[in-house]
Amino acid sequence: MRRVGPNSFTEIYFAGCNPSFVETSDGYVMIDSPQQPIDAVRWRERMEEKAPIRYLINTEPHGDHISGNAYFPNVTVVGQVKLQECFERYLYAFGSLEEKRERFKETDPDSVWLVGHPDYPPANPPKLTFTDTLTLNVGNHTFNIIHMPGHTAPQTSVLVPEEGVVFTGDNVFYKCRSWLQECDPWEWLAALKSIEALDVETIVPGHGDPCTKAYLKEQGQIVENWVGCIERFVDRGLTAEDALKEPIEITKQDPYPIGQRLFMHNERLTDMIVRNLHQRILDKKQQPSA
Ligand SMILES: [Zn+2]
Repeated sequence: MRRVGPNSFTEIYFAGCNPSFVETSDGYVMIDSPQQPIDAVRWRERMEEKAPIRYLINTEPHGDHISGNAYFPNVTVVGQVKLQECFERYLYAFGSLEEKRERFKETDPDSVWLVGHPDYPPANPPKLTFTDTLTLNVGNHTFNIIHMPGHTAPQTSVLVPEEGVVFTGDNVFYKCRSWLQECDPWEWLAALKSIEALDVETIVPGHGDPCTKAYLKEQGQIVENWVGCIERFVDRGLTAEDALKEPIEITKQDPYPIGQRLFMHNERLTDMIVRNLHQRILDKKQQPSA
């Protein structure tokens, strides 16, 4: 657990994203939920000992940010309207409850009994939604919740001015490999500019250590490197299939290793990035220029 503001904390050592919370004078506001069920229930019980949890804000639909929501069954989840629409599709993208339970027997035996546990619903999707922005006032804190599409379409940043902190989800990967498997890279670059314009000292990224705005340039460069790399394939007339047969020096685009327990996805990730960016660059080139 890392303190990132006078009353703000993030957990950077869990498997999954960096779930975070702010302790207000009227209870907790969470940003994303712990991925592993056992981590989620431990969190909730420790917090509720002290104060109620008022809201849980999701920054994006990826499973490592939303699958723990179910273990906060009485907490109102807040999300961008597109996140509400795609919530269940993403939640079950990696299998049914039964398949998850089987997988946890290998990867996280402590969580097995919590999968499909009668006290918890299978899903806890956003009930409170917004399109562009939403401001919540909880106790003495302000939560400016801002749609910043990029890494995903519903991508959301949570700015807490009293704490000097913004929680960006995966629009920022601090010194671990960036996942561009479904991003709109141009929106992502615009989102980084929007984050840059915020009056904050600390950025809590989706993965990796908390950082400052000084890192945003490097994050943008990684996105640009990948776009440049795939654009060269498109310009040579290569299909995504052809491009994947070419040597791609991953560390030339993105110098950082894939982190946490994601090592087995390293190759698959390159494949997904190439396919996503190839299609987007083609689509862009085929658009009649205004
Ligand atoms: Zn993500």
